[in-house]
Amino acid sequence: MRILTIEDEAALRELIEYDLTRAGFQCLCLDNANDALIAVEDWLPELILLDLMLPGLQGLQFLEIIRKKQTTPVIVISARNSEKDIIAALDRGADDYVTKPFTFNFLEAKIRAVMRRGQAGFSAVIEAGGIRLDLTSHRVKIDNQVLNLTQKEFELLSLFMRSPGQVFSRNQLLNAVWGYDNELISRTVDAHVATLRKKLADKGRYIQTLPKIGYAWEVE
Ligand code: CA
Repeated sequence: MRILTIEDEAALRELIEYDLTRAGFQCLCLDNANDALIAVEDWLPELILLDLMLPGLQGLQFLEIIRKKQTTPVIVISARNSEKDIIAALDRGADDYVTKPFTFNFLEAKIRAVMRRGQAGFSAVIEAGGIRLDLTSHRVKIDNQVLNLTQKEFELLSLFMRSPGQVFSRNQLLNAVWGYDNELISRTVDAHVATLRKKLADKGRYIQTLPKIGYAWEVE
């Protein structure tokens, strides 16, 4: 799962990155919310940890901007601990609020809780068009037959199946599956989509190619 962290305090940011990575999450940690606006579009985070007091764009402003078009869960992490601050963040669309200082166990429990009550996208098993994808065991079955996929193919398929109908540009897929700072080119995406399609056999038709744009998943 991809978690975007926005925290300007370097020591805390590094600690969060270390802990989240060790817990098996994919992390992108930024020190300002302006860059984070771009990352939200390009990297498609599944959860955002947001500090409030930041250089440049403030946490609450960031929240207001992304809430106009995104439902990505946001947990605010802030030293501000007054009821007024907490209510202001929740009213602007934050899903939860953690006050500093906090332990990593506490933060991780909050992340799990937000994911659980989150959108259908976080359900452990997704079934559509005869394909069953289990995010916990990383297994994919078609008509009860296990399909052998590589890690990247699995990530691509789960991204598609979690967002039916959504159009993904090659760059979005590249950033989401291969990471933000990679040197790969978008042809890598085409090659992996091609093998994934082949493995899905007749169900490969669910992956639609949108010329010059990218791909979308559509189960008829
Ligand atoms: Ca701060």
